[in-house]
Amino acid sequence: MLSVLVIDDEYGVRSGIRQILELEGYAVEVAETGRQALELLEKQVFDIALIDYQLPDLDGLTLLASMRSRKLPTMTCMITAYANIDTAIAATRQGIDFFLPKPFSPDDLMGVIETLARHKHLKEEAEKLRKENEAGLLALATEKSQTASLVASLRDAVLVINRERDVVLANHAMSALLGREPKDLLHAPVDTLLEPEAFKPLAALLTGPDDDARRVAELTLGDHVYFASVVGFHREEGEALGRILTLADVTDVRRMAMEKPRFIRTMVHEFRSPLGAIRSLIEVATEQCLGAELAPYLPYLQRSEKRIDRLVELIGELLSLSHIDLERTPSPAPPCEVAPAVASTMDLFREKLADHSMTVAVDIEPDLPRVRIGEEDLKAILTNLVGNAIKYGRESGHVQVRAARRGADVCVEVVDNGIGIKSENLPRLFEEFFREKRPETRDIDGNGLGLAIVKRLAERSGGSIDVQSTVGVGSAFSVRLSTIENCTS
Ligand code: ADP
Repeated sequence: MLSVLVIDDEYGVRSGIRQILELEGYAVEVAETGRQALELLEKQVFDIALIDYQLPDLDGLTLLASMRSRKLPTMTCMITAYANIDTAIAATRQGIDFFLPKPFSPDDLMGVIETLARHKHLKEEAEKLRKENEAGLLALATEKSQTASLVASLRDAVLVINRERDVVLANHAMSALLGREPKDLLHAPVDTLLEPEAFKPLAALLTGPDDDARRVAELTLGDHVYFASVVGFHREEGEALGRILTLADVTDVRRMAMEKPRFIRTMVHEFRSPLGAIRSLIEVATEQCLGAELAPYLPYLQRSEKRIDRLVELIGELLSLSHIDLERTPSPAPPCEVAPAVASTMDLFREKLADHSMTVAVDIEPDLPRVRIGEEDLKAILTNLVGNAIKYGRESGHVQVRAARRGADVCVEVVDNGIGIKSENLPRLFEEFFREKRPETRDIDGNGLGLAIVKRLAERSGGSIDVQSTVGVGSAFSVRLSTIENCTS
């Protein structure tokens, strides 16, 4: 039921209007003065207000202004016996919706009320549509910005071109790949962008009939290999709109795929040659080449035993490697104290160091924070590095183990004054099975897996390893580890 407020100081007008409207099913309230009207408007929201132009306290225009300033949704009609053009202009400025000059008939009144009711309904519908539209636009804008941030943050490079072959979207990865600022890519003709010789393979992929068929290729751009895909995109009705190019950097995947057969070949070799040697040594015994007594065979058996021990060691190291690879993110171990891990590692080597008359200096900075690596992992790193410092050290040489703060991290160093490493071999030092082939290393046993294990252990706990070495002078391996002080996680 629509509600109507009648504001008029003439009793006859108020009651007349009330009677007519109540008969027609409207809920009617009346006010004699402007103030009374304001009080009623305070308490209730009316659909329609009929306002007399001249009230005893306020004039109709002031009342109207006050209603507008409160943004009431009420439709208004001015009823006045003094209608003139100036009043009409002033009232229209205040946003009056209708005029009803006095005197008026019941039909005149009903005609105006129904018009106002219709207008109100239309206004409400329009407002509803506006709000829906606004919400829709907001959703669209949010969706658009979500899509834009999604595409921007993709690791793969993405480029979208329209039918005119102008760029309509390119993400950060693509602008980095093309060596352009993102703003310079937008609206640029793709054929100009891809003109440089280096991008010819891309240009070729993007040239061809505009069809839906997805075209894929493996491309080499600079020293990176990409998996490239081009697909057309269309309106629902089928009209072609443009093409989307995506480039996924597969350099590491390719390298890993190439490394696997190499790794297996080396591993087979590492097993085959000691097994062949063991077989020959056993054959000497089974064919009784040295007679029926056991004694002459003992050196052969001892050599076989040594070879078998090395194979067992190799299997252990291969297992460690595959464990580390499988457990790239190990379950978090409690942070570890550096000094006790160093002390227990050095205990393991006491005898060996004495055998080679080597001296040791351990220098651990006091009050080091605990480091973010499992104790077993840190001990494995130290065992490998100290073991190497002795193996590749010189007789009566010197080994130092140091640990100190380095910025927010802790740096653990193992330094020797041994045979050193050739500078050209340093980049390959941490590869699996890499061993320096030099006269000095010929008689030193090893599988070339220790440093690969050390590197993986350091890196999977967020640390890093570095080496400095000079042939004939010695080597220094330093492992940098984060501490409980600089980790927030
Ligand atoms: P392994 O010692 O079993 O051969 P590693 O992976 O521990 O395997 O080391 C790889 C290679 O790096 C060694 O074969 C050796 O040539 C070189 N190397 C490692 N540590 C040292 C060192 N402290 N001094 C000189 N050369 C070293």
